Amino acid sequence: MTRELHVPLLIVGGGIGGLATALAVARTGRPVHLIEQAPEFTEIGAGLQIGANATRMMHRLGVLDAVERAAVHPERATMRDARTGEKLTGLTLGSTYQARYGFPYLVMHRSDLLQILLDACTAEPSITLENNRTVTDVVVDADSVRIDCANSFQYRADVVIGADGLRSRLRRLFVDDEPVCSGYVAYRGTMPIAEVPTDVESNDVVLWVGPRMHLMQYPVRAGALYNQVAVFHSESFASGRDEWGTPEELDAVYADTVEPVRRSAGSVSRARHWPLYDREPLDSYVRGRVALLGDAAHPMLQVLGQGACQALEDAVCLADQLVAHPEDVEKALASYEEARLPRTTECQRAARPWAEIWHLTDPLAVALRNRILRARADDDYDDVDWLYAELPA
Ligand code: FAD
Repeated sequence: MTRELHVPLLIVGGGIGGLATALAVARTGRPVHLIEQAPEFTEIGAGLQIGANATRMMHRLGVLDAVERAAVHPERATMRDARTGEKLTGLTLGSTYQARYGFPYLVMHRSDLLQILLDACTAEPSITLENNRTVTDVVVDADSVRIDCANSFQYRADVVIGADGLRSRLRRLFVDDEPVCSGYVAYRGTMPIAEVPTDVESNDVVLWVGPRMHLMQYPVRAGALYNQVAVFHSESFASGRDEWGTPEELDAVYADTVEPVRRSAGSVSRARHWPLYDREPLDSYVRGRVALLGDAAHPMLQVLGQGACQALEDAVCLADQLVAHPEDVEKALASYEEARLPRTTECQRAARPWAEIWHLTDPLAVALRNRILRARADDDYDDVDWLYAELPA
């Protein structure tokens, strides 16, 4: 027998985007119901970089203190050439960065962030969280939305927020598209900092770039663990083979890199790998009483370190618009889209050429890139202000 529950506001998906939205909306005094397909709220994967645009949102959500305790405050980000070891450029992330943007740049374990958001949601009496609810269908009626789940659960909601990630079911209401595979894969993981096989550059974020590859490294969990992400373009993907992005390919691509890069890549867990996807930007991610948020709305390549950050911006913006239009949810959602769509589209679009710049293969293009990068000062924020500065109201 089908069990139907009526809820005023339903969030589908309990990742960083969904939980942050539950918290933001509940803090405006509205009851929130969140459903998640997994039996538990968990994050797979390793580290997250969180720029000031997102720590500003964490402050609004009341979780920044807890986040700062679990995170690491890097002093700088350094970009190096993976084939020569040369420092190409850097970005000062410590107090100068914080003075400029008002909030810190942090790196942390993604499961620590999820746990902090989950604890904050659990402490909010107006939030109901349910696991083991997999959305299978969505039917939009004139004045409500019906959400069907596996195992005969059904919800009727006045407002539905789809925060169900890259392979969003809710997104199918808007467009019949597929994730776009970049042909790149990531091997990633954390290890106790004492077991890292190379010198660790203090609390820095270190990025090594080379032809069709990059390696990202930084400490997480208050400095106890070291996060490493080894990314490369898979030739077997390009040739159409089903099995692609293997550890053997990883080793082959990294064979031409300097010894610390090779050793680091060799120490990253081979147990699992993540093909990297984005999608084309949507013209719209709000329809009537349904809105998409986070990766469901605007999945992007990870090179800007902004996917989760943009989901946090979405969450706070959505709550602000519900406050601005308390009697008219459709107006609130339309205003959310108006505020968010240009910015998230810009992030999606900017990430692709940034990835190309990191992964250049042509020696002349590499030489020009390196020359331009060497000329900039670490405290020159001109290229990143658009990401981290406070958005106009
Ligand atoms: P998800 O985390 O995917 O959550 C979606 C949730 O919905 C999941 O819990 C899922 O189980 C649930 N769900 C899905 N379908 C259903 C259904 N049918 N019914 C019910 N529930 C469902 N971002 C940054 O900001 N900084 C970084 O440094 C960074 N680094 C990254 C590095 C890599 C290698 C990758 C791959 C990504 C990185 N990102 C980074 C991006 C970031 O991880 C994502 O943008 C972010 O996690 C998206 O959160 P979300 O809540 O929108 O989606």
